[in-house]
Amino acid sequence: MPDLRFDGQVAVVTGAGHGLGRSHALLLAERGAKVVVNDLGGALDGTGPSSGPAADVAELIVKNGGEAVANGDNVATPEGAQAVVQTAIDTFGRVDIVVNNAGILRDKSLGKMTVEEFDAVLAVHVRGSFLVTRAAFPHMKEQAYGRVVNTSSPAGLFGNFGQVNYSTAKMGLVGLTKSVAIEGARANIRANAIAPIAWTRMTEALFPAEFQEKLTPERISPLVAYLAHESCETTGEVFSVGGGRVARVFVAEGPGWRTDDLTIEAIRDNWDAVMTEEPHLQPTTLGGQATASMQAML
Ligand code: NAD
Repeated sequence: MPDLRFDGQVAVVTGAGHGLGRSHALLLAERGAKVVVNDLGGALDGTGPSSGPAADVAELIVKNGGEAVANGDNVATPEGAQAVVQTAIDTFGRVDIVVNNAGILRDKSLGKMTVEEFDAVLAVHVRGSFLVTRAAFPHMKEQAYGRVVNTSSPAGLFGNFGQVNYSTAKMGLVGLTKSVAIEGARANIRANAIAPIAWTRMTEALFPAEFQEKLTPERISPLVAYLAHESCETTGEVFSVGGGRVARVFVAEGPGWRTDDLTIEAIRDNWDAVMTEEPHLQPTTLGGQATASMQAML
């Protein structure tokens, strides 16, 4: 029997009717977790909700000998997010793991992007992850245990053409992850984010066909499961993952350049020093960053 298991634990996986979420749900269930399979069941842009995909995945888990319940609520609304977590409590009595994975795309170049397209994407990714985590948080605090795994993206960390809404949302998830990690620390609640690259309906038009068999969702889920496991104490981190490769992504700050006489021209004249990367700092908290700024003044 594999040694990392989730027996007795309850996981909520949002957007688990397709793609990555489906794979995460199947793996967690295979390793003993009871799973709430949430999915609104819409198209890639979030339109046309249907209860089918969540029910199909829950049914498959049960057929495989696991325990799961389907939930078709919309994570982007406070009532929907609350209902997803309540489904875990009502059905299985607790919630230990939240995997915020639900997502949509409304790609457009900046000049053509409407406010609705911007807001709709932020609503699912950022508001949805905030709402589901907030709904689970009191339960996790009470039991002094919880694991949250959020889904960022390379598009957020590094930017991408035609995805101003999506990139904004995905970098927003990094901030959400880091602050939840800080707020949850004392209650043994760990929060991390993944920035995956996988072949799903969301990306099938982007990658060359030969990568379909290599960039499988099954090569993402083991990292999600590890971050969701009680043996993983890491928190507030972001991991790039795809095709079997896992790497830590970190925010670094260069050594910087300072003067008591900061002028526009002084900045121009010292631009190379401002842009220098080494030796870099890796502040893990706001306080750590502020300390570095203050020390430079001494
Ligand atoms: P997908 O479209 O197969 O899965 C997303 C799922 O979320 C769908 O099943 C959809 O019905 C569901 N969903 C959408 N809105 C919802 C809502 N409001 N409430 C509940 N469920 C909702 O795509 P995927 O590639 O599996 O994406 C999963 C996550 O991974 C997304 O957050 C996506 O942005 C992220 N991601 C994917 C890749 C990739 O390479 N596939 C890269 C970076 C990030």
